[in-house]
Amino acid sequence: MTNKANYQQLSHGITVMDTEYMSEEIAALYIVEEKGAVAIIETGTNHSIPYVKEVLESMQLSFDDVRYIIPTHVHLDHAGGAGELMSQCSNAELVIHPYGAAHMIDPSRLIAGASAVYGEERLNELYGDIKPINKERVIEAADGFKLTMNNREFEFLDTPGHARHHFCVYDVKSNGIFSGDTFGLSYPHLSTKKDRLIFATTTPVQFDPDALLASIDKIMAKNPEQIYLTHYSQIIPTPEIVEQLKESVKAFAQIAVDFTDKTENRIENINQNIQNYLLKKLAELDCDQDIETQKNVIKFDSLLNAQGLDFWLTKYRDTAKPTAH
Ligand SMILES: [Zn+2]
Repeated sequence: MTNKANYQQLSHGITVMDTEYMSEEIAALYIVEEKGAVAIIETGTNHSIPYVKEVLESMQLSFDDVRYIIPTHVHLDHAGGAGELMSQCSNAELVIHPYGAAHMIDPSRLIAGASAVYGEERLNELYGDIKPINKERVIEAADGFKLTMNNREFEFLDTPGHARHHFCVYDVKSNGIFSGDTFGLSYPHLSTKKDRLIFATTTPVQFDPDALLASIDKIMAKNPEQIYLTHYSQIIPTPEIVEQLKESVKAFAQIAVDFTDKTENRIENINQNIQNYLLKKLAELDCDQDIETQKNVIKFDSLLNAQGLDFWLTKYRDTAKPTAH
């Protein structure tokens, strides 16, 4: 963790800021400014909030100028800091997917879930104290919901696949989409001579490949010029990038299906296959880093993906087909 905020101004009043989650340039949040009013898309964790303050001050703005706080979904690397940030930004409203609202108002289930994964101590280290949000300050944004901030329009798209409580935010002004985890992961520090590596995130517990592919098509139906990834920063959605992303959804689902009847060490085996898939892709894209560095960058997401795929597979086996819940 550094003492100074790592941020970069993009075009159209959009600033990307590193939330300093886990390590550098893993997770971002976006500060969107329109004539003195601010929307913050994603919150990072409680530990990200002093950096938000610093970036706002560098723009001659303060927490009082924040009108909307908009996590794309309630996973804690996106929404963990929402309660704390809302308590600092007294003029702000929280905008959240209808399926996520209850978890922001009463985060006890989120805390219990994360605490089961990380243990209480690590949970606190990663996220700090997760605070509830007064329901009077919560706006539920269903599919097609529109929000304007000083005449700047945002449209919310329901985009299940990574999680059912996930929306993406279409920003008319930049013709860009804040995609949360729906448009996958692409880390700029994995530098490649060809296209950037981009791949799906299949985190437990609501991965649904068919829904995810449909959501990617829904994003692209807007003809966006920019995609603002949470993990990490801006990417231009060329046909090659979209194809690579969709191919990864199908490939990961197939890797999982191939292990349907091989339950022994399944997570480990799926993880290994995902790593192999990604390393092969990186070789095709002519990655500049050595293999050890590549492995280090992908290993966390590979494991998380394997856990999500294993969970999906368990349900897949039970229901004989993938389901949306
Ligand atoms: Zn997520």
